Amino acid sequence: MTHPVHTLRFTPLAHSVALSVAALLANPAHAQRAVAPTPTTLRPAVEQAYAQLMAAPQILQLLDAVKADHERSIGDLKMLTEIEAPPFKEQQRAEAFLARLKALGLSSAAIDAEGNVVGVRKGTGNGPKLVISAHLDTVFPAGTDVKVKERDGKLHAPGISDNTRGLAVLLSWLKVLNDQKITTVGDLVFVGNVGEEELGNLRGMKHLFKEHLDIDGLVALEPAPDGTVLVLGTGSHRHEVTFKGPGGHSYAAFGEVPSAIHGMGRAIAKIAEIRTPASPKTTFTVGTVGGGTSVNTIAPDARMAVDIRSDEMAPLLATEKQVLGAVDSAVTEENARWGVNT
Ligand SMILES: [Zn+2]
Repeated sequence: MTHPVHTLRFTPLAHSVALSVAALLANPAHAQRAVAPTPTTLRPAVEQAYAQLMAAPQILQLLDAVKADHERSIGDLKMLTEIEAPPFKEQQRAEAFLARLKALGLSSAAIDAEGNVVGVRKGTGNGPKLVISAHLDTVFPAGTDVKVKERDGKLHAPGISDNTRGLAVLLSWLKVLNDQKITTVGDLVFVGNVGEEELGNLRGMKHLFKEHLDIDGLVALEPAPDGTVLVLGTGSHRHEVTFKGPGGHSYAAFGEVPSAIHGMGRAIAKIAEIRTPASPKTTFTVGTVGGGTSVNTIAPDARMAVDIRSDEMAPLLATEKQVLGAVDSAVTEENARWGVNT
């Protein structure tokens, strides 16, 4: 069911003097995000390797060992969940996670310059370097009650699934590999990365890949429907757009100045009408807005954060172009509405 959008109506605020997009900035980021493929998109070589692995007794033994480690792993899950980790404030959880990595056998693990926890489990040599990662941060702000509560046999807490569960599973995998004395040819790099959510903007992963140019593959642990392995990557570009105007009293300055908020509203209305392809899946949203000073002030500033994603680069760029075009024409229209020359 969809809900209508409700608007609060105030006596119109208003306007004059140039409104400009002061900072159209932002941090275009190419995020690697997992999306569900249709089975037909898997290459035969991948299918074959998967079948081979699932037929190997050693692998089955490992999977059983992971299941047997469940109860112990829940302890890690609860402990880590109850340490809040909002974007940019992952340090305390990072330290706790680091301590667990060390306790489970990665004695050389450490926190890197960006705040990621990184530990290398050495291979015998000359094999591919594989990263196994889970992000440390959650979307929940500081001060959120992160106490784990059990209801109907299920554990509930903010961030327990996305992605503290990933962290606990990662620790379990490490323990099981060590317990079963599994040696790999390539190095396994265990990573608890920072900055996955929101304006963290993948700072952790970007740093990791800058520091380690020899990474051959990555397995990111994230919540997914049961029995699902997700492949492929989704690109994301994010923009924080700031609108600046002169501001003024809503009554006294009326007719003289454009409004930053009205300009942004025009932009959002245009963005809301953008059509994107269902396949490759391409999405956009204005995720947050802010600005203004009071109900009777023609807003001197407004800002919004926009997220654009696609499974392919071309529609991502095309959608981004439309979003940025909407911002430009909204500013032009708002200025024109009040007869302001730019
Ligand atoms: Zn996540």
